[in-house]
Amino acid sequence: ALYRAKADGGDRASVFDINMQESLRKNNELSLAMHNSVINRDFCIYLQPKQNQNEQLIGAEALVRWVHPKLGVLAPDAFIKMAEETNAILPIGNLVLERSCEQLKLWQLEESTQHLQLSVNLSAKQIWQSTFYQDIINIVEAYDIDHSKLILEVTESVLIQDVNDATEKLEKLRNYGIRISLDDFGTGYSSLNYLRSLPLDEIKIDRSFIQDVAQDTQAQVMVKSILDLAESFHLKVVSEGVETREQIEVLRKLGNTFYQGYFFSKPLPINEFHEKYLKNKES
Ligand code: C2E
Ligand code: CA
Ligand code: CA
Ligand code: CA
Repeated sequence: ALYRAKADGGDRASVFDINMQESLRKNNELSLAMHNSVINRDFCIYLQPKQNQNEQLIGAEALVRWVHPKLGVLAPDAFIKMAEETNAILPIGNLVLERSCEQLKLWQLEESTQHLQLSVNLSAKQIWQSTFYQDIINIVEAYDIDHSKLILEVTESVLIQDVNDATEKLEKLRNYGIRISLDDFGTGYSSLNYLRSLPLDEIKIDRSFIQDVAQDTQAQVMVKSILDLAESFHLKVVSEGVETREQIEVLRKLGNTFYQGYFFSKPLPINEFHEKYLKNKES
């Protein structure tokens, strides 16, 4: 295609070519920087609070950030895709889990914070590793945490490879006491099937449903159906991306009791999270 464009006589091809090279160069640079950052452990977690129906803090979700030596703090959109492609997500995922268990351990030392749960996102790539189950157990045991306070968030993407394998591994973790949550619920192709096959404790209704729930009665019907379904499967339901008071009111009326979103707080660095939510509670 490049050759033909050139033969047509335009400068387009070379401009295209240069843009391609430029973006390839940037990608190589980023992937090299990521490689170095994995070695230097330049990754941290931000915490986004999770609230119950009384708007009390019940826990948080750990969201990875890359503390890039030159560019500063980067959100997952800027690097997760590449991390998955290069398998850097494997050491990064372990790091996130270590940081999360470290935090859980600290909470569990204080009576006022003992009850808090922490949710950690898993990449499908992690789950597909043959060492996955043991990797998780090793970290959990090293930090000696209460298993039931750790929630692992998975998406349907874990199942595109080997449903039985993923189900078996998650089942083992669940038997060990760790909780399993299905993230981005409603966005995949067959969310309903996964409700049946996956060992789950919780589902998280995707932000796209929550966005319209205050104005749109169809969105309300959808959310209500998801809540009914979850109830019959004995699953907790968290609404993601709650941004307004109206959304909370509507969700509460529909029967939903757990919320996460900018309305309460965006994800915060750990120290800011403590400053905002736990300061006057800690002795
Ligand atoms: P997610 O797991 O669905 O996480 C929720 C994302 O929505 C977070 O973005 C959060 O900041 C954002 N969010 C929360 N509340 C609101 C809201 O009210 N409005 C809007 N517009 N957005 C809200 P973030 O931190 O940029 O993370 C993006 C995605 O990156 C996550 O989506 C998750 O899929 C992935 N991710 C984050 N941390 C990890 C990790 O440690 N490992 C893996 N494998 N993936 C991660
Ligand atoms: Ca998540
Ligand atoms: Ca989500
Ligand atoms: Ca997502």
